[in-house]
Amino acid sequence: MAKMFINGAWVDAKKGVTYEIKNPANGDVIDSVPAGDVADANSAVEAGQAAFKNWAALAPDARAEILHKGVMKVKEQMNDLAASLTKEQGKPLMEAQGELNHFLHGMEFYIGLASKVRGVHVPLPPSMNPNCYGVIMKQPVGICVGIVPWNFPITLMGTKIGPALIAGNPIIIKPASTTPLTTLKIIGILNEAGLPPGVLSCVTGAGSKIGNALISHPTVRRVALTGSSETGKRVMEIAGPHFKRITLELGGSDPMIVCPDADMDKAVNGAMIGRYWNAGQACLAVKRLYLFEQIYDDFLNKLVEKVKRYEVGDGMAKAEKPKIRMGPLHTAFQREEIETQLKDATSKGAKVLVGGKRPDTDAHKKGFFFEPAVVTDVPENSKLVTEEVFGPVLPIFKVKALNEAIAKANGSQWGLGASIWTNNMKYANQAAREIQSGMLWVNQIHYGYDEMPFGGVKASGIGHEHGPEALEYYFEPKSVVFGGLE
Ligand code: NAD
Repeated sequence: MAKMFINGAWVDAKKGVTYEIKNPANGDVIDSVPAGDVADANSAVEAGQAAFKNWAALAPDARAEILHKGVMKVKEQMNDLAASLTKEQGKPLMEAQGELNHFLHGMEFYIGLASKVRGVHVPLPPSMNPNCYGVIMKQPVGICVGIVPWNFPITLMGTKIGPALIAGNPIIIKPASTTPLTTLKIIGILNEAGLPPGVLSCVTGAGSKIGNALISHPTVRRVALTGSSETGKRVMEIAGPHFKRITLELGGSDPMIVCPDADMDKAVNGAMIGRYWNAGQACLAVKRLYLFEQIYDDFLNKLVEKVKRYEVGDGMAKAEKPKIRMGPLHTAFQREEIETQLKDATSKGAKVLVGGKRPDTDAHKKGFFFEPAVVTDVPENSKLVTEEVFGPVLPIFKVKALNEAIAKANGSQWGLGASIWTNNMKYANQAAREIQSGMLWVNQIHYGYDEMPFGGVKASGIGHEHGPEALEYYFEPKSVVFGGLE
């Protein structure tokens, strides 16, 4: 049985309660983990508080060295960790390895920044004191909490622990209740590399219980959530009255616009990976595809042919070429939600060109498999447009002009990412200026680069992860005015 990691030690929940983690591909119980409660969350915060002063005082290079050592150990165990991630999350092994590589790259990015943090010197007007000047110091913000979803549990943990630890803060990770196992293994490895007890803890269990306890704890100063917009609202409600520093990376309904002059093969590939990676369970997945009418038929034909190459099955086994493996959806709930959304669209006249159902072979019976779908003639008022579609279903729309495509792209409560596929600079510029999103990719697959700030507008959240920009959320700037030292 797995244990939680609090204050440098593997522990059970104080109440001794546990729950099982099951493989979404076959329903097998993989392991069980402690069902943490308020008292466990409080212990993690207290341990963080006890560790804070010394960790913040440690030289940035020393903090970086410990983390680098840990990251190298994670790399050594890459294959085992990828298998563990596939078993608990469902994604194919190749995608699990990709996620771990992304985690390692993101961690190294912040490790490299550790000794490059700068404050500011500010010359001040001499009217009140000719010797006066200002300094903006950067101080660690305090105890941080990172709340992580199940779709990319490892990279999205990295986007929180990397900047938090490098900036000198302790952090407590609350993984999604269904994906704690690989997270715990990595947290154990990083601690073994020399992190002082309490600097990096992990509490497992239900978000509503531990999440609430961690967010509302008076000692916690910073909360970074990646999750749904509904959970984002809840976190704001709890953290807001305590003036905590929050960033919210929430849901999305990314539009992709393909113009008549685009490189068609690249765009088809962009739609395919953009929509179906991780069985469509990605915040920045392509969730609405707008095709200019001139290329509509050609694009659709090519896309449908490619989507037919997917073969759903256990992520631990490879598909035989030219087939491409797609794992199961993560939970029964996810599959039912996508089925409801698709049914709603077809009841309003939408047409399913491929997939869109459960495979009917015995080999698939025990997993949450769903065949990837391409859907056309989708009414604007259907759930496939108005809700976040967190699975392998792609609604496609025909447009006559870029103004129409942008208006439709913006007609969503979300604003995470968007892409335009064109070689026309006028189109690309207009999209960059007018699409309401935190990110825009031009002729590029939707992807969160560690080097670029990543965050959404509207219901997609507040603040950023990735890039040197994200590090700023883990510091409190302090303005110090020196009136002359005589
Ligand atoms: P979720 O909101 O259900 O859960 C996310 C995390 O929040 C989990 O750890 C969960 O236990 C915790 N949680 C749930 N209720 C809580 C509460 N009341 N207080 C504190 N914590 C609580 O999301 P999910 O289903 O795990 O993930 C899918 C969602 O995440 C999608 O909407 C997706 O778009 C979004 N997401 C966003 C990004 C991004 O960077 N913008 C990245 C990945 C996923």
